[in-house]
Amino acid sequence: MDTVQLAGQTEAALEQWARERGASPGAARGLARALLAEFAQRSILQQPSAALVAEAKSAFASALPPADAIVDPDGTVRFAVRLLDGVVIETVAIHQPQSETRKSERWTICVSSQAGCARGCVFCETGRLGLVRNLSAAEIVSQYALAARHLGQRPRNVVFMGMGEPLDNLEEVLRAIEVLREPSGFAVPERRITVSTVGIVPRLDELYARTRAQVAVSLHAIEPRARLALLPVARKWPLEELRRAIARAPRTVLLQWTLIAGVNDSDDDADGLVQFAQGLDVRVNLIPLNPGPAADQRAPPLDRCRAFQKRLAGAGLRTLLRMPHGQGIGGACGQLAGARRTAMANRH
Ligand code: SF4
Repeated sequence: MDTVQLAGQTEAALEQWARERGASPGAARGLARALLAEFAQRSILQQPSAALVAEAKSAFASALPPADAIVDPDGTVRFAVRLLDGVVIETVAIHQPQSETRKSERWTICVSSQAGCARGCVFCETGRLGLVRNLSAAEIVSQYALAARHLGQRPRNVVFMGMGEPLDNLEEVLRAIEVLREPSGFAVPERRITVSTVGIVPRLDELYARTRAQVAVSLHAIEPRARLALLPVARKWPLEELRRAIARAPRTVLLQWTLIAGVNDSDDDADGLVQFAQGLDVRVNLIPLNPGPAADQRAPPLDRCRAFQKRLAGAGLRTLLRMPHGQGIGGACGQLAGARRTAMANRH
């Protein structure tokens, strides 16, 4: 029988487990909260019965997977996480220092939702691997837990922008969000969690309905042929269909645009994006490309990136130009390059 991982358990699930063993409602709730608090390395307000704790500890495994951490010069930490079956995935703790506009430093944990990915976006390291397997909710939450322990704090921001397309593993991603937001556990505010998708149109409505997490959609190009050349998924769900799905969102949607020199960084591209966004409740994240598998693709010079941003902002589009954090760490899903390819290749 597979061991049940504590990292994948919500308070309700733990409570039910205790109730099934005869605990009163109050004792069951106390146990669930104590287990979540201990796993999140928080103080336990009320000690549950020792016998119940002992039984829970033999039923739920709480060890985290081993991980190697590499610290980039700007403080960003990349973790190569080795899962129980030997699969290696990548997690990143992105560091944003204190600044004039930021009162205190900020950490964002970028988690993977799959090992590899089936979607094959051309600029993406993960896309080259193909799909190895989906991650369980416990494996997703464990990535956050080990980053939090490494940093000695519980970061309030989580992005599903690591390896994998989260909407291809939606149930486990939603379960992981439930666990991450548990008030007695990690207590990550749900609205500070961002799920980034390449645009799996039929699953967007379900995502909107089942979580208050922010949704980010990778757009990257408006012109159909240019978009298809970057994102094979565009063949299945053309832009108009994607636009209608974005228009149905109950909250602001982030549009991700990876800037690639000579591919999608012209004034015409910016104007196309402005036109696409008209009438939509959206913000734009511009991310200069990290070096990836396509050797001939690179980020535009900084002044071109700024000119692109200015053109969008001048047309009234809320736009942020996000500079990459750390060597090989990007802001769009699957752009976390670096150790991943080597690590994954090492499996074979
Ligand atoms: S960019 Fe995202 S969806 Fe596309 S191949 Fe990479 S991980 Fe998959």
